[in-house]
Amino acid sequence: MKIVDTHSHFNLHQFEHDLPESIASMAGEGVGTICVGIDLSTSDHAMRLAQENPSIWACVGQHPTEWEKPFEENEFRKLLSEPRVVAVGECGLDYFREKSEELMAKQKDLFLKQIKLAHEADLPLMLHIRPSASTMPALSSLGEAGDAYEDALEILESYKKSWPEMCGTAHFFVGTKEIAQRFLDIGFYISFSGVITFVPEYEEVVKFVPLDRILPETDAPFATPTPHRGKRNQPEYVLEVVKKIAEIKGLSTEETEVRLLENTKKLFKI
Ligand SMILES: [Zn+2]
Repeated sequence: MKIVDTHSHFNLHQFEHDLPESIASMAGEGVGTICVGIDLSTSDHAMRLAQENPSIWACVGQHPTEWEKPFEENEFRKLLSEPRVVAVGECGLDYFREKSEELMAKQKDLFLKQIKLAHEADLPLMLHIRPSASTMPALSSLGEAGDAYEDALEILESYKKSWPEMCGTAHFFVGTKEIAQRFLDIGFYISFSGVITFVPEYEEVVKFVPLDRILPETDAPFATPTPHRGKRNQPEYVLEVVKKIAEIKGLSTEETEVRLLENTKKLFKI
């Protein structure tokens, strides 16, 4: 395996009709993936896919936009004891579509419950943090655009005091260099998706984050990278993300693949 797409969703309905073919196509390119749950049933599905396929690992948790569903802690605890489950998430805060006091309070509570579960299971966190305003130019300084990052970092920085080994990754990173630095300071990695292939504003932050703290991902079926725009995203398109990171860092694609795979193995212990 030459690279692992650290965040994708073979467990969602977009792959329902051609799942075995999609998995074979990924594996045929020498790519593996971490399949990420967004609620209990998709987490269970991710775990089963991981058990059946040597190129898939699972991440289990409840997405912040699923805050109205009850959090079935004991069911998640059972999933976390499975050997191919390598992380907790995706969990975090998402203020993009809506931002009410109730939503923020409930999302923070759901997030903290999952941090505690990760602590208990000694697993890394797969963070989903989406601010209420998230376009890159708007993120040139902290403020309203960084709101969900500010709130999530406050929770994580405080929890780090009782769990110094806490680690994880900020999936689909859309923040500033300052926000990236705060994640790096608490031992987290920064994951870049296919958007770096078509939004030039990301170049500065990709350049800023040290290569040994970067993870590549697709978030397939979403956010298809160039040159596959318009098609459903696939985990093997992570190779385009790696190519872009290599180009920005001024390294060869081969060396970048090796280094990013090392990061993935280290964080997820795979
Ligand atoms: Zn996702």
